[in-house]
Amino acid sequence: MPQRIVAGNWKMNGSRDFAAAYLAALAGDVLPGSGCDVLLFPPATLLPLLATRVEELGIELGIQTVHPEPEGAFTGEIAAEMAVDAGATWTLIGHSERRQLLGESDADTALRALAARRAGLKPMLCVGETLVERQGGDAESVVTRQLDAVLDVLGEDLAAGGIAYEPVWAIGTGETASPEMAQAMHGMIRGVLRRRSARLAEMPILYGGSVKPANAAALFAEVDIDGALVGGASLDPAAFQAIIKAMETHGNP
Ligand code: PEP
Repeated sequence: MPQRIVAGNWKMNGSRDFAAAYLAALAGDVLPGSGCDVLLFPPATLLPLLATRVEELGIELGIQTVHPEPEGAFTGEIAAEMAVDAGATWTLIGHSERRQLLGESDADTALRALAARRAGLKPMLCVGETLVERQGGDAESVVTRQLDAVLDVLGEDLAAGGIAYEPVWAIGTGETASPEMAQAMHGMIRGVLRRRSARLAEMPILYGGSVKPANAAALFAEVDIDGALVGGASLDPAAFQAIIKAMETHGNP
């Protein structure tokens, strides 16, 4: 069975005080033994602080992106090796905010995924269509194209990480794909992976897009939804814990 994962993406939010209070709220409740892996993707500045508590809390940390190169004259960028040094074991790749706002192409995502694996990071590859693409009937072809771009470069090595299906129209908007709609896309993604290899077909496929305690259980009950990548709601430790508990109770065993 694919690993079950609930991941929080803090985006560009959080201070040292926020992180300390967050960990205090999390401690002793969800972890360990929550029945799923719990990942946090804080801003890079907070990785060293959070890294001091991960073993005790049984969580893993990720960075929100990595640069393709291991070092050099790339002002403002962070290499995968540096993220490992700061305590990350995962990285997001191709989050839609980077694709949409910063013009990251499919080819960029493949290079970043390659850099992640070179450094030993587990890539969480984000894929998803815009509203215009969905309305135009192109949702499946867009997601397949985004997957193939990375699979063509990494092959089976992508299986070290996970996939997050995040329809762009559902991110930070309060709109969520219905469980049936999300399952249909997750099933399609599983098929793309299975055609490549049995190992890839076992990858965890997370849903992301306005996941909240109120809608998590119905999503997790779907057969190909192995977890969630949570943005806004992950900033509230109580809401994040409730989503983890929904996975324990309603997720596939
Ligand atoms: C995300 O940032 O990956 C995300 C899904 O955000 P939100 O939950 O706020 O829609």
